[in-house]
Amino acid sequence: TEKMPTLLAGPCSIDSEERIESIAKQVSDVGGKILRGGAFKPRTSPYSFSGFGAPALQWMRQAADRHNLQIVTEVMSEHEVDTVADMTDIVQVGSRNMQNFALLRQVGAVKKCVLLKRGRSATVSEWLMSAEYLYASGADSVLFCERGIRGFDGETRNLIDLGTVALLTHHYGLPVVVDPSHAAGRRDLVVPLSKASLAAGAVGLMVEVHPEPSTALSDGPQALSYDALRRLAQSMDLECNR
Ligand code: PEP
Ligand code: MN
Repeated sequence: TEKMPTLLAGPCSIDSEERIESIAKQVSDVGGKILRGGAFKPRTSPYSFSGFGAPALQWMRQAADRHNLQIVTEVMSEHEVDTVADMTDIVQVGSRNMQNFALLRQVGAVKKCVLLKRGRSATVSEWLMSAEYLYASGADSVLFCERGIRGFDGETRNLIDLGTVALLTHHYGLPVVVDPSHAAGRRDLVVPLSKASLAAGAVGLMVEVHPEPSTALSDGPQALSYDALRRLAQSMDLECNR
């Protein structure tokens, strides 16, 4: 029997205690298993909101525990590995840090599951080698997250590389999670890209969701509404939909 896909969902950045509670409830209600949310955010501009840091991790941990969810959150620097690892189930290494080898070694050393996002211009072999760094330093397991690479046309922001999703899944037998939110950068493309990703072999989808996307502190335009998340989950054949 085929393994059922996993839904990872949550806000781009954790913006308040109340909101992460509300989002956790929604993710759990629709059958999601893992709550995502950023407390340490990599932003292209130093003037953009970069997350509420450690207090936000606490808010997310408590919300996740209340709703029986696991957590995935990003660690940006070697200095924060212990703080983040203490609070999270899965440690996320972001696209911009895929080849930050010192960070990879430190993250591996905490012996957890790692969600390794593909660098926006990383080849498959570079991606695999970064996973190798994690395993070599002790990581428990690595989930590969395709989030779009840089193409020649910015119209859909990043180019979601489904060929590579299929290659890692079917040739290498590796677990791939697709993040259509950061790939497309716009919410109307998230559902069709999600379906394509599952067809290509992804074991899970990581999507951004927000109760009021226009007020999100980052990435509002790609955040799904609660209704849209529910519809996506219903179309996914999650365990709870059977
Ligand atoms: C994220 O998932 O929060 C994120 C910043 O994504 P990426 O590293 O893929 O840009
Ligand atoms: Mn985001």
